[in-house]
Amino acid sequence: MYTTCGFCSGSLGGDGSSSGLGVGKRFAFDAWKSRAWVICQRCGRWNLTPFDTRIETIEALERLSASGRVAATSEQVSLIRAGGCDVVRVGQPRRVELATWRYGERLKARERERLKVLVPTMVVFVGATIAFNAALGGSFGYMIGQIPRMADGIYTGIVGRRKVAIEPPICAACGNVMVLRARHVRHARLTETTHHDLALLLSCPRCHREGALLEGPDAELALRSGLTYVNLRKARRLKKKAAEAATFVDRHGGPEAFIHNSARMELTVSRLEGTEALALEMAVDEQAELRELERQWRQAEEIADIADNLAIAPAVEQEFRRLKGGDQPTG
Ligand SMILES: [Zn+2]
Ligand SMILES: [Zn+2]
Repeated sequence: MYTTCGFCSGSLGGDGSSSGLGVGKRFAFDAWKSRAWVICQRCGRWNLTPFDTRIETIEALERLSASGRVAATSEQVSLIRAGGCDVVRVGQPRRVELATWRYGERLKARERERLKVLVPTMVVFVGATIAFNAALGGSFGYMIGQIPRMADGIYTGIVGRRKVAIEPPICAACGNVMVLRARHVRHARLTETTHHDLALLLSCPRCHREGALLEGPDAELALRSGLTYVNLRKARRLKKKAAEAATFVDRHGGPEAFIHNSARMELTVSRLEGTEALALEMAVDEQAELRELERQWRQAEEIADIADNLAIAPAVEQEFRRLKGGDQPTG
């Protein structure tokens, strides 16, 4: 049994526990085509499981995914999380209602990140306040009460200053090279073009005119940064809102339709409020993750085709030889 990645030699992990799968923590399978992969956690490449054990592996993955929860789903691919494993199911997935837990998990991660800012700020600030009050004899209860808000402000500031990881466009109005940060995207306007369901008209950070148009993946990337920032600023009690936002996306026909409609309405990012802003962030995130999974799947599929042909070829050839031998004893 293989235990390391065929591309980077990294360990594929897995503890052979409840899943009965032995190797791997992230899997993909296509029951229709009878294919299964272990996804490397280090390099992300898809390792095709050996031909002879594939049927059992697929059965185990079917069981595992039936016990798990669907994180996201598209026409071709579903992402299922089950017992510490991720399973990507390929090909005509059952249309399952979108679970809200996935976004809940992201919000938890965001909260952990926020605490990383809050805690050091508190330590420094409490120290300073105590020293300050000791010197002046003031009431420091009030000051302490302000700390979480201050830390939130600092954290929001950090997120807002994060660079958007795209090639900086040139402003058509003033010629400025637009180095975009998350907070700049809030002035952008959603739109659509002939080739893309989602495009963003960027407002130039220098001249404040609409100076560049982003399309496709670039628009998506910028929008995700911008929405993370907008949602951080606007939404209080995000956890409660996550369920609401997921339902909102569902009610509007799922991620794809929802994004398309939002683009058609040409909304400015900062105009989006509460549930709608969160819903759009969720939808764009999910679409991006699924598209990446689909891309990886197509790549893996090509390799699987070649590998399967190699595995089947000798058997077929042998059979052919047997038949041929029967007909012509002389060989
Ligand atoms: Zn690898
Ligand atoms: Zn400009």
